[in-house]
Amino acid sequence: MTTNTLSVFSRKNTISLLTSQTFDLLVIGGGITGAGIALDAASRGMKVALIEKNDFAFGTSSRSTKLIHGGLRYLKQLEFGLVKEVGRERAIVYKNAPHIVHAENMLLPIVENGSLGRTTTALGLSMYDWLAGVRFSEWKQMLTKFATKKKEPLLREDILKGGALYKEYRTDDARLVIEIMKTAAQNGAICLNYAEAVSLVYQEGQVAGAEVKDKIEDGSFAIKAKKVINAAGPWVDEIRAKDNSLKGKKLHLTKGVHLVVPYEKLPIQQSAYFDVPDGRMIFVIPRGKITYIGTTDTSYYDSIDDPQVSKTDVAYLLTAVNYMFPTIQLTSHDITSSWAGLRPLIHEEGKGPSELSRKDEIFVSPSGLLSMAGGKLTGYRKMAERVVDMVAGQLESAEGLSYKKCFTDEITLSGGDFKHLDAIDEFTELQMMKAASEKITLGDIRNLIDRYGTNTEKIILLAQKDGKQVTPESLLFAELQYCLEEEAVTNLNDFFIRRTGKLYFEREQLTWEYPLLKNKIETLLQWSDSQKAFNAQEFEKEYDAVLSFLNHHN
Ligand code: FAD
Repeated sequence: MTTNTLSVFSRKNTISLLTSQTFDLLVIGGGITGAGIALDAASRGMKVALIEKNDFAFGTSSRSTKLIHGGLRYLKQLEFGLVKEVGRERAIVYKNAPHIVHAENMLLPIVENGSLGRTTTALGLSMYDWLAGVRFSEWKQMLTKFATKKKEPLLREDILKGGALYKEYRTDDARLVIEIMKTAAQNGAICLNYAEAVSLVYQEGQVAGAEVKDKIEDGSFAIKAKKVINAAGPWVDEIRAKDNSLKGKKLHLTKGVHLVVPYEKLPIQQSAYFDVPDGRMIFVIPRGKITYIGTTDTSYYDSIDDPQVSKTDVAYLLTAVNYMFPTIQLTSHDITSSWAGLRPLIHEEGKGPSELSRKDEIFVSPSGLLSMAGGKLTGYRKMAERVVDMVAGQLESAEGLSYKKCFTDEITLSGGDFKHLDAIDEFTELQMMKAASEKITLGDIRNLIDRYGTNTEKIILLAQKDGKQVTPESLLFAELQYCLEEEAVTNLNDFFIRRTGKLYFEREQLTWEYPLLKNKIETLLQWSDSQKAFNAQEFEKEYDAVLSFLNHHN
C-alpha cells in the first residue's frame, strides 16, 4: 500500500490527515488558481489542505484555449501591466514544466477592415514581445501578402493584406494543474478531489475551516484551518454567499466554446489568430491528428456545473473559419468533439463580455475569507504569490511566525526535471531503449512524455512488471495504474478527460481503450455492481456530451 496522498488507494489515509490537524491554510477549489496557491503556500512552509468538489481541473482549468500566452488582445484594451506579467510568466512556466509547454508559431493575418492594420500590428507585436521579455532573435516577423499566403495557403486571398508571425506557447491546461498539484503534495500539501465544501465553519466570527462532503464514500468530515482561501473559479460567488459576504463586486461569467475537427478537414500549417466579422478574434490550433477552433465569448447565466455547447456557438465558429479559409467549408458533422468553459470575470457596469478585464482580484470578507477571481491560466503563479503574501502577513502578525518569500519561479514541476530544456529528445530515446520492445513506437513514448515528462519512466517500469514485454495494452494499463496511484484518478472520466485529454483530442481511440480499461479499473478499485453501472453511465454521458449540440434546438 502506497502512502502517496494523491493515490486513490490511500484516500482514507488522506482524509484522516485532513481531519486530524489544524491547517494554516485551507484552499477551496482544485483548478489552476487553487493548485498554484497550494504549491506556493506549502513551499513556504505552511501546513496546507486543498479540497476540490469534482476532479482536479474539472472547472474552467480543463476547458481553456490551452495557451500559455501574454494575451495579445489585452494590448488593444491598454492592459500593459497584465500583458507584461503574463508574458514574463510564460517563460517561467516553460522553464519549470517543459514537457507540457510547447513553443508555437502563431500566424496573424492582416485583412481589409480587420481590427489591426499593418502598422498597429507591427507596433503592437513589438510591444508585446518587449513587455513579455521575448528574446530579440524570437521577436515577431512581419510578412508580405505573398509570404503570408505561402505560410498558410488556405487563407482567404481577396481580403488578405499581409501578416505577422509571433511566438506563443501551447499547453495542456488540466495536466498543468495536476503537475502543480503533485508538486504541492510533494511539498507537504494534502489535496483531495471529490471533496466539496458544503459550508464554512466559524470561530468568534472568523472563518476557521469547512464542513466537507466526501463524494466518493458519501460521508462528511470537517477541516480546521487558520485561514481559508476561496479559489472556486466560476463558483467563487457561491462560496461568498455561504459566507454571507456576497456584496459589492460580483462575478460576470462568460462562456467560451471550442470545437475539434480531424486535422485533414482543417489542415492548417501552423496556429493562426484571426479576425471574425463581429470585431473579435479567434484561434485555430493544430494538435496531432486534430485541429481545434475557439473561442466564443458570451455572457452566461445558466447552470455553472454544466455549461453546454449550443448550435449558435457552433454556427458562429464555423462561419468564422469558413469565411477565413474559404476552400474548407466545415459543417457541424465534421466536428468530433467540443468543450465549453466559463470565465470567472469580475463584473464591470456597462461592459460587454469581451471588454471585461482579465485581471485577477482578491476580495476580503469581514469573516476573513479571502476569495480570488479573474485572472488567466498563464498568470497562476503570480496570482498565488499575491494572495499567499497576504496570508503569510496575517499569520506572521497574529502568531509571530515567519515564512519564506515566494520562490515558486525556482520550483520545477513534477515531470519537468529534464537535465536541460533540449534534453527531451535524449530522454525519449533513452525511454525507448528501456522499453526495449518492437511493439512500441517512438510516438507512443513521446505521447507519454508530453503528458508525464520524466515520470514516464515510472509508467514504463509498471508496464514491465513481472518481466513482461511492453505492448500498447500493457503501456495503457500502466498509464492508468500510474494515474490511480499518483494522480488521484477515481474513474475513467478523470482519466480520459483531464489526465490524457483523449475525449477531446482522440475520441475515436476510446472505442478500443474504454472496454479494456473499464474491466481493469473495476477490478483494481473493486467496484460493486451498482458502482460499475453508475460509472459506465457517467462515462457514456460525457462521451455523448461532446457532440450533444447536434440534438439541441439552438
Ligand atoms: P476553475 O478551474 O474553475 O477551478 C475552480 C474549482 O473549484 C473547480 O474545479 C470547482 O469544481 C471547484 N469548486 C467549486 N466549488 C467548490 C466547493 N464548494 N468545494 C470544493 N471545490 C469547489 N487562460 C490562459 O492563460 N490561456 C488560455 O488560453 C485561456 N483560454 C481560455 C479559454 C476559455 C474558453 C476560458 C473560459 C478561459 C480561458 N483562460 C485562459 C482563462 C483560464 O482558463 C482561467 O482563468 C482559469 O482556468 C481559472 O481557473 P480557476 O482555478 O480560478 O477556476
